[in-house]
Order: sequence, then structure tokens, then C-alpha cells
Amino acid sequence: MEHLIQLTNICKSFDDNQVLKDINLYIDKNEFVTLLGPSGCGKSTILRIIAGFEFPDSGDVLFEGRSMLAIPPYERTVNTVFQKYALFPHLNVEDNIAFGLKLKKMSSGEISKRVSKMLELVNLKGFEKRSINALSGGQQQRVAIARALVNEPSVLLLDEPLAALDLKLRQSMQLELKNMQKELGITFIYVTHDQEEALTMSDTVVVMKDGTIQQIGKPTDIYNEPKNAYVADFIGKSNIVSGIMKQDCLVNIEGVDFECVDKGFAPDENVDVVVRPEDIYLVEPDKGKITGTVESAIFKGVHYEMCVVAADGQKWLVHDTTLFDTGSRVGILVKPFDIHVMKKSV
Ligand code: ADP
Ligand code: MG
Repeated sequence: MEHLIQLTNICKSFDDNQVLKDINLYIDKNEFVTLLGPSGCGKSTILRIIAGFEFPDSGDVLFEGRSMLAIPPYERTVNTVFQKYALFPHLNVEDNIAFGLKLKKMSSGEISKRVSKMLELVNLKGFEKRSINALSGGQQQRVAIARALVNEPSVLLLDEPLAALDLKLRQSMQLELKNMQKELGITFIYVTHDQEEALTMSDTVVVMKDGTIQQIGKPTDIYNEPKNAYVADFIGKSNIVSGIMKQDCLVNIEGVDFECVDKGFAPDENVDVVVRPEDIYLVEPDKGKITGTVESAIFKGVHYEMCVVAADGQKWLVHDTTLFDTGSRVGILVKPFDIHVMKKSV
């Protein structure tokens, strides 16, 4: 099947600073793809290249198989929502949303039909005549989204659109955006540095670091099978410890052999091992594979978060609904399936 958008071998430098290094990525119709990575890793630059505001030094941008490099931004079927909404303060809500349609010389009947549909979609019915300055941050962001969607783009680019909102509003807007995307059947390319946001909203997450793609996958794949320690670390609180791969399905951690399900490493290859805090079982010291002492324990609402220090000083983060008191000796167990062996990250 032909991909809706394809980036091939994209490189981009600003002066001596190479900010994108051979980016290869495809995006399918109706997909919700999120570019996730820390500030400065090149996320916005990718969006700007897709939108046509920026040109790659090499590589190509294809829409339905055709190169877009010679096509100006306004002729690409994409629209962008930025973190800074860039609404027109002197226009009311309705006129902000209708702005692009008026430029296109659409009939006023069609404009008011579309604007009214959009206001309904973003939950702002009755706000038509409000001044932009009289709106809250969340309402302004809804106007910005409506203004982009009213053009009926086939792709919507969203650059940290919720970053300026407080947590509660952000979470409810995440759900709304996800619903809108499903309802309208539009492809979303979303940029965020917030891993939880990426995991909850996306069909596909693209994890980036320093202008490179580290992993592309479904949220669960990224979470459960991070390709390297960088991804695992970025995606969530995890235990990442050094190990030695003895043979297929056997990894040595802290001098103890653990069965696992990973294969294909060199004999005695140094590896990183990822174990989620919720996948560690605390047991009586003599029943565990590794023993340690509980150094701290905090109640997190549903579970306790405990830090267990092993004999060699390795710290293990553990989530358990049972509390093991600070200072107590415990054993650690991990099931083979919950051990994720990864190549040492470069
Ligand atoms: P992100 O969106 O992931 O935070 P950006 O794509 O905005 O990252 O930026 C990546 C890098 O490129 C940063 O180091 C940034 O300073 C640099 N950069 C972005 N745009 C320009 C520009 N127009 N001129 C010079 N450097 C830029
Ligand atoms: Mg950015």
C-alpha cells in the first residue's frame, strides 16, 4: 500500500549544527503519529519540513508517492497547530476560524456552515462573537484547532499544542483531540516531549534523540520492548541495569543467571536489561534471586514505590501493592517474560 506521507533520508543542518540525521519515516492515512523526544531533538524541524516551511538539505518528502519539495506550503494538504496559538486578537472567535476560508473566497453560506460545524466539534457553540482575549488558554487552543480543521486538511500537524495548558485541561484536551481525530478520519502528526501524552494518544510513537530516530512502534511495543536504554529511560521509570548475555534466553545480572526470552546476542555480549518496576516481585530474602534492603517506600495512591538496594549497590525500583518496610531485607524475583534485554545504546 502506498503511504500517505513518506520522509526518505532527510538531513538538515543549521550552520554547522546537523539537527536531522538521515530521517526515514512513513505515515499512513488516518494514523495518529507522535514524534516524541526531548527539547532540541529536531521534532519541530520535521513538522516544518512536512509543512514546507523548511527545506531538507537532502532527502525527499513524498505525499502519496509524489515529491512535495517543489510545492509551496499553501498548496500542501496539511495544516499546522502551534503551541503558541497565533490567533488574531482583533478578530472574534468566528472570524478567526473563518479567516482561511475567506482568503479562499468561499461563499459566505458555506463559510458559516463550516464554522458552525467546527464550533460544535471543539465545544465552543455560543462563543461565536467572543473576543479572543476573553477566552481561557484552553478555549483559545480549541479555536486554533478549529481554525486548522475548518480547511479540511488531510493531515494536521500539531506542535506541542497542549504544552501551555495545566495538567487537568491537558488531559481532557488529549481525549478530545483523540476523539476528533477518529471522528474526522484525519491523519495527525503530533509533537510532544511528554511521554505519557505520546503513549496515551498515538497509534504510532516515533522516539527521537539528537536528530535521529531511536524507535518507531505502537505505544505498547515502545513501552514493553524498548530498543535501547535511551528509549526505555525516556518512556518511563524503569530499571535499566547492565548484564551479560550468557547464551540465548539466559542473561547474567549482578552475577546471577536469569532466564529470559531474548535471543540473538553474541556470547557474553554486554547488554542493558530493562525491568519495569511493576514487574518485580518482592519475596522473603531466601526465596529471591537477588537480595537487598528496602531503602525507601512511598505510597503512590494505588501501589507503594520502593527502592531496594542490592548487595553490589545496584538500586531497584519496585511497585507493589504490599508495603515492605524501610530497612527490611527482601528477595527480588522477575519472570523471564518481564526481562527485556537490549543492545547497549550508542
Ligand atoms: P524540538 O522541536 O525537538 O525541540 P527543533 O526541531 O525545534 O527541536 O530544533 C532542533 C535543533 O535545531 C535545535 O538545536 C535548534 O536550536 C535548531 N534550530 C531549529 N530551527 C533553527 C533555525 N531556524 N536556525 C538555527 N537553528 C535552528
Ligand atoms: Mg519544538
